[in-house]
Amino acid sequence: MNDKVSSIVGITTTVPIEVLLAAGYKPVDLNNVFISDPDPDRLVNIAERAGFPINCCTWIKGIYGVVMERGIDTILCVTTGDCSNTIMLMEVFRLKGLHVIPFAYPDHPDPFRMQHCLESLAEALDTNIEVAEEARKKLERARRLANELDELTWREGLVGGWENHYWLVSSSDFMGDPNEYERKLGQLLMESRERKPYPDDMLRLAYIGVPSVFARDLYGYLESNGARVVFNEIQRQFAMPNGGSSLAQQYTSYTYPYSIFDRLNDILPQLRERRVDGMIHYVQAFCHRGIGDIIFRHQINLPILTLEGNTDYLLTQHLRTRIEAFLDMLRRRTRVPPLESRRQ
Ligand code: SF4
Repeated sequence: MNDKVSSIVGITTTVPIEVLLAAGYKPVDLNNVFISDPDPDRLVNIAERAGFPINCCTWIKGIYGVVMERGIDTILCVTTGDCSNTIMLMEVFRLKGLHVIPFAYPDHPDPFRMQHCLESLAEALDTNIEVAEEARKKLERARRLANELDELTWREGLVGGWENHYWLVSSSDFMGDPNEYERKLGQLLMESRERKPYPDDMLRLAYIGVPSVFARDLYGYLESNGARVVFNEIQRQFAMPNGGSSLAQQYTSYTYPYSIFDRLNDILPQLRERRVDGMIHYVQAFCHRGIGDIIFRHQINLPILTLEGNTDYLLTQHLRTRIEAFLDMLRRRTRVPPLESRRQ
């Protein structure tokens, strides 16, 4: 039985929202609400006052703060394929009397097992896969526009790294209104085609890892130092760039929930095709994913700058200095003239 409490469902990461839409819910990505808040520290403080440890990831605390402050009473928590902290977060939500819907991705990308996961979710939400497949078709245009934006970023140089990040990361919930997302993004694509492209001699960077807490500052700072991000790995995955003829296929070719080696199968060809000069690997303080830095450094034959963020929503001076040194090194390596001489 579907004991629906309200039409809004908070989601803790990208999930098969087609199933939620089919069941009449409005998915809201709690991460996006947290990080776009003008005062995210306030939300983290709500969690710390409730007892979340100082050394718990900021995203987890931010999600908790959003749920409590906004009175969201239904949350879909991903228990396999995202974050082990979500399991305990889910238990705390239960303790608070909230309605929790667990969802587990299969432990490896297998369409048959994915189909089973989707059917279980549909059953829990009192809908079925056929209706969810209809929702998938309705979202195809919005997903196609997100992919067009990505092409305009790396191929045409008409869209900046921040815009690329913002629109791709927002495809986890289509800003709560897929039609409006489609309308606004369509408008942006039209406008961006009239722009002057970024200069060819800018350094081309990849951004690998979970979205950063200082994303608003990072992309602009890179551009003011002669480098632009032409590949936002996980954000791009949120938009389901490989599509598929069924939900099971779509969420099997979505790489984020699976192993780093599955992610590398996507990352390595993209680095080559997008002619990337260097890579930023972002790690969140206290996140298990930081250990993956060992594997990226072993498997990727490019200079890598690992940046860690915690509750710093703007780049610290220390991070700025490290970024500048990294870009200088890349410039020497790729023989791109230094900023000063290019400005003359
Ligand atoms: S950054 Fe890491 S620890 Fe934090 S929510 Fe994401 S996966 Fe979990």
